[in-house]
This record gives sequence, C-alpha cells and structure tokens, in this order.
Amino acid sequence: MDEIDFSIVEYFGSSDSSDCGYCRGQNNGLRMTHGMWAHTMSIQVYQALIDNGWRRSGKYCYKPVMKQTCCPQYTIKCDVQANRLSKSQKNSLKRFFNFIEHGEKPKASAKVGENSASVSSPVVQNPKKLKETVRDSTKHDGKSKSKATKKRYQRYQRRVEKLRLKSMTDADIEEHFKKKREAKLTKQKPKQIQDYFNFTDAAKNKFAVKLIKSADASCFEPHKQTEFEVYRQYQTTIHKDKKKELTMKQFERFLVHSPLSYVSLGPLHEGGSFHQQYWVNDQLIAVGVIDILELCLSSVYLFNDPQYSFLSLGRISALYEIMFTRQIQESVDNFKYYYMGYYIHSCPKMRYKGDFAGSFLSCPETYTWHPIEDVKPLLDESKYARFASKDVSPSPPASLRDLLILYQQSAMPYFRYRELRATKNNKEEDKEILELCQLIGQKAAACKLILYRA
Ligand SMILES: [Zn+2]
Repeated sequence: MDEIDFSIVEYFGSSDSSDCGYCRGQNNGLRMTHGMWAHTMSIQVYQALIDNGWRRSGKYCYKPVMKQTCCPQYTIKCDVQANRLSKSQKNSLKRFFNFIEHGEKPKASAKVGENSASVSSPVVQNPKKLKETVRDSTKHDGKSKSKATKKRYQRYQRRVEKLRLKSMTDADIEEHFKKKREAKLTKQKPKQIQDYFNFTDAAKNKFAVKLIKSADASCFEPHKQTEFEVYRQYQTTIHKDKKKELTMKQFERFLVHSPLSYVSLGPLHEGGSFHQQYWVNDQLIAVGVIDILELCLSSVYLFNDPQYSFLSLGRISALYEIMFTRQIQESVDNFKYYYMGYYIHSCPKMRYKGDFAGSFLSCPETYTWHPIEDVKPLLDESKYARFASKDVSPSPPASLRDLLILYQQSAMPYFRYRELRATKNNKEEDKEILELCQLIGQKAAACKLILYRA
C-alpha cells in the first residue's frame, strides 16, 4: 500500500452552537469549537493534533474554545502500564466472564457504570452499590477472626502429622510448606484484564473480537448493515435520537470515514482507523471505533446493542482497549497510552473517564500532562483551569515557515503563496492563518501539513 505521509486540511474558523450534547444548554453559554476538514492525514499529524487538544469526528477535526465553551473538554490519556483495575472494574469483568463462560446472566440491579468515549454518553453511576461493597469487606469482627486462625492452625498441625508419617524430616516439611506458599503467592498475583478474557473451549457462549479497517471495503462491507442496525438501536435507546435522522449516510460520515492513512507499525500492527467488533455467538454486541496512532490507541466512539447493557459494555470495551494497547506496546516503541477522548468535569455523566488509574489531563494552555488526581481540585473550583505553573511557557505555535499552502493545485511555502496573492487585501487571511498556527501547534505543521486555500 502507498504510504501517504502528507496531510491536507481546510480551516473553517470557529463556530458556536446552542446544541451542546453534554449540558443541553444548561451550563450558561454556548458550545464553542474551532473546526477544520481533514482531506487526508498522517497518524503523526493526528497524534500531534490530539496532543494539542483536537479530536476527530469522521473527517471533521475540532477543538473546543476552552475559555469560552459551556462545557470545557480536557484531553485525557491513560498510561496503560500504570493502570490498575479498580474493584468495580474487576466486578464488571467478572460478570462479563461469568456470562460468557458459564452463561450466567447478572441481575438487572447489578448494572454499574456504563460508558463510551462518545459525545454525550449517558453514564449510570451507582455510588450506593460501591459503598455496599466496601462495607462488606470490613465486616469481620475480632472474635470470628481468632476462631478462624485457630482452625487454620489445627489444619496445619494435621498436615504436618501426615507428612511425618511419610517419614519426612522437619527440614523437608519446612521446605514443603515454603514451596506451597510461594506457589500460592504467584497464583494470587493481582488479576490482569486478559485473565478475564481467557475462556475455555467449553464456554457456554462463544466470544470473539474482530479488528477491521474501516476503509477496507472487502472486510467492512459485509458487516456494514449489521453495524448500522446496532448503531441505530444504541442511538435511539441510549441517546434518544430520532430514528429518521439516523441514516446510513450519517453513520458513515460519523464513524466509518476517516482522514487517516494506514501505515505499518512494525511486523504485527498497523496504524489507522479501525472498527473493533465484539461478537457473542453470531451476534454483534458492540463496536469500538478506534484510531491506532504513533504513541497511542485513541478511542473515537463505542456503540452497543442495548439488549446487552447488563454487561456494562462501555466499560468492558474500554478495558479491552487498554489490554490491546499493552499488546501493541510489546512490539512498538513508545506506544504506551490509551486516549479516551475528552474529560468533562462539569458534566457528571462524563466523569467516569477519570476512574482509570494512571490517567493524565492536558493543560489547555501549555499542553503539558498532569496526573488527574492532582488537578481535579482545580476543576472543582472552576470549570476552566490552567494546570501548569505560571513559569511554564505556552505551547509554541506552528511556524509559518513549516506551513505549506495548497493553492491552484500546487503545494507551496506560505511566503510564496503570499506573493502570488499580493494584490488581495490579506490582513484578514493572515489573521486566520496565524490563528490556525496557534491552534495546531509546532509539531503538527512540522510533519508536512498542507493547508488548502480556494
Ligand atoms: Zn455544554
């Protein structure tokens, strides 16, 4: 496959809308974003852009006007090596495992947090449930504890007697128990995500995950209609979208089309845009739309069959994606982050994204990363906050020298373009281009970014 390493974008300036999917207009103000259309884009440029506060929706890239928008959106990433499973995440994984392996369907009340990396995902938080779990684990009183210890000691004594009967020396017996303890400790090492996706051949349900390129028609077309049906079910049930607005065209523009070109990331993996399909038996139950970039796996969206919402598929797929990031990391240098999109502190439904241990938020002025637990208090005080200290300089803008302009079918340096169009009053245009340079940052422009001008 040809590797296209240049990127072509068209800048649209800023826009505002009263239709904010997070607060539905309740947060005093409008949703404000800068936008550009990406005709084609390398994974290097997109990596640089998301590290500068951008995200994509189809081929459209947008960046919130952080100081002004009604619901500021902070880029969040998780260092997958630092990630540890929380108790409630383990419970979700356990329920999922039991459903696949043993066919056990959890009770409806067991539903904890449902999530996706989407715009305006509803999340059902259940703090009561979590509290109960904590209470359960602190139930033991002193009396029953000492009784248990006594019984345990008696069991130990009986085992020692048995071993002596086998004419083992005391030293042998000591060695025997030492080995047993070691074996038990390795067995007890904290469970990893992959342990919950390890099903036996006798599992009651068959589970499979298929990764397909969204641009590869031969792989994608046969499943397109199936995906669309699940998408429509999800949007109408979970987001209350109107069915007639959910056309195949809209689905494709939003979740199938991507500006990213595919590129090899070593012998095992490829960068670009993918659909990760989750199948149970012959049913498509969920689809994670993901981008595999230079340094990270970035979650674009997740939709699932609402009939399976008892499995907390938003959470399960996020954990699966963290595990997948670790797998890619094994063979791709510096690949170590899972991007969940935007974290919106002012929208309680979206705070679940902060629940993944090892997460960082990007400072909206310097684009430096800060542990989420350290900066959350700032967001409790004010929905807009700078995280870096005052002495950190703001992130540098793209240099005009790096920027190429596509004009009359040829790409040229900005200064050449300015000469060609010297007769025009260029003040307005220069202002717009400098604004774009500020928004995309130095790194994106240095990776062969071409700005299209009509
Ligand atoms: Zn809002």
